[in-house]
Amino acid sequence: MPYLDRADAPPQLNNALRILEDAQGAPLCSEDLSALIAAALAELQSYEQARRRREHHLTCLWACSPQLHWIADRENDLVWVSRAWTELTGRPIQEALGHGWRQFVHPDDADQYFAAAREARFASGSYDLRFRGLTADGSYRWLRTRAVGRDDETAGAAFVYGVTEDVHDQVVAEAALERLVERSELVGLATNDIIWDRDFDANQLTWSRAIGAFCEDPAEATWTWWENNIHPADREPTLASLRAFLADSAAPRWQLEYRFRRPDGSYATFLDRCYVLRRDDGSPRRMIGAMTDLSARVEADAKIKQLQSELIHVSRLSAMGAMAATLAHELNQPLAAATNWVGVASVLVQRSADVPEQAGSALDQARASIARAGEIIRRIRTMLWRGNNNREVHDIRALIDESLRLALIGATASGIACRVVAHSIDIFVDRVQIEQVLLNLVRNAIEAMASQSRRELLITARPNGEFAEVTVADTGPGLDEELQARLFTPFVTTKDQGLGVGLSISRTIIEEHGGSIRAIVNPDGGTTFVFTLPRARQVSEDGAR
Ligand code: ADP
Repeated sequence: MPYLDRADAPPQLNNALRILEDAQGAPLCSEDLSALIAAALAELQSYEQARRRREHHLTCLWACSPQLHWIADRENDLVWVSRAWTELTGRPIQEALGHGWRQFVHPDDADQYFAAAREARFASGSYDLRFRGLTADGSYRWLRTRAVGRDDETAGAAFVYGVTEDVHDQVVAEAALERLVERSELVGLATNDIIWDRDFDANQLTWSRAIGAFCEDPAEATWTWWENNIHPADREPTLASLRAFLADSAAPRWQLEYRFRRPDGSYATFLDRCYVLRRDDGSPRRMIGAMTDLSARVEADAKIKQLQSELIHVSRLSAMGAMAATLAHELNQPLAAATNWVGVASVLVQRSADVPEQAGSALDQARASIARAGEIIRRIRTMLWRGNNNREVHDIRALIDESLRLALIGATASGIACRVVAHSIDIFVDRVQIEQVLLNLVRNAIEAMASQSRRELLITARPNGEFAEVTVADTGPGLDEELQARLFTPFVTTKDQGLGVGLSISRTIIEEHGGSIRAIVNPDGGTTFVFTLPRARQVSEDGAR
């Protein structure tokens, strides 16, 4: 008979005892009495057996349970604990009883644990928490306790009943998983990439948080959404390329650049790269990819192209200007001489009687033509220089950065260590012209260092009174005296492909801006070009004068 069926034994025994007495408390007849006592004893026996069986069952259950079962009183003193205590802590049960269990809680977790336990000691309070507990090998392991407070009416007191189990492996695995998830998120943040994960089995597409910049609700970022937001001109080529990749069972990686729509309707340029995991039959099982936003680089490239074309344009004009300047200079003397000779001829014509009258007017015409030739050269020169002036306030540091970016294209690989130490100084200049000067000086420096083992380029900018002073120093071979003297003269070059107009143009530009330029040979080798430009405030004050 299962003991639970006999749970009504005590009431039956009560009944039997009540029947032993009549209403006034007098005993009943002996026959009935002995039968009733026998029945009561039988009941008692079976009740006692049931109780023992129940105790045995519970003891067996607790013995095979890896969990620790325990009971504490209102003061959170343990009154009973299952044998698992000894297995977990390697200590006798007596050490757990009373307050003893407390010293097995890790000091860092003790406050939180004891506070929760205090809360639960009143009837129906409960707690569920993780803490570190001291175990048999002396190490702390993560444990989890779930406990509940209950009134025990038979004892007229409240007890806390709890189960404590070892969850160390689970906590460690959870922490490892958390770190893994965090790492993948950090990778996304570090690269600023949008990471995506397409699971073909589960038909699921998941994105890293960065997708939030392109889609308000990431749940809406389905595969179709992605397809639809590719730039119309790039969509078909992109999808065709991806289809071909997925169909090629041997290809593990795919990458492509395409434009992708931003929420404001503009397009970002992305480089999308992915890796695919395939089933045995070669069909895709899972694809993980990273979309790198190239927009800033693409825009910078476009800007560089524009600057380059501006510079090429201005270079041509400058070269023409330099030639015109040279011509003006070179022709000036012969023209002046021609004017003198014409003057002499006029005097001779006036003095001699046998020269025809028209000779005088022919010489006047010649003088006028010479004067006109000089004027034409002067005007061409003025037009070429002044016609390109578009002066505004610029920060010299920004101009240095921009020129350097242009000049270093292709040069970084040649191992040049480049350093800029520039103050932020406003100057009132034609940006393109000053960038052309800087570009010319930096390119000359790079070319000068090409065959040197030490290749260091230092550009500085600092205020010097009313001027901004810029230096471009290299560790090239320096300049010999003869070259130094003719450096800024047009068409002086030591290069096979050189034109020899760069420095003369640079000087004209700097002087046109009210500054000066010179070259210094460094004591420890190399050359330093120094140029000055008036600071912006000074220019506007001058302009107001
Ligand atoms: P190009 O570069 O076409 O020769 P430039 O007028 O810019 O014309 O330079 C004239 C010459 O000055 C160069 O050929 C070179 O011999 C010399 N030069 C310019 N810059 C440097 C430098 N940093 N170090 C040594 N020599 C230089």
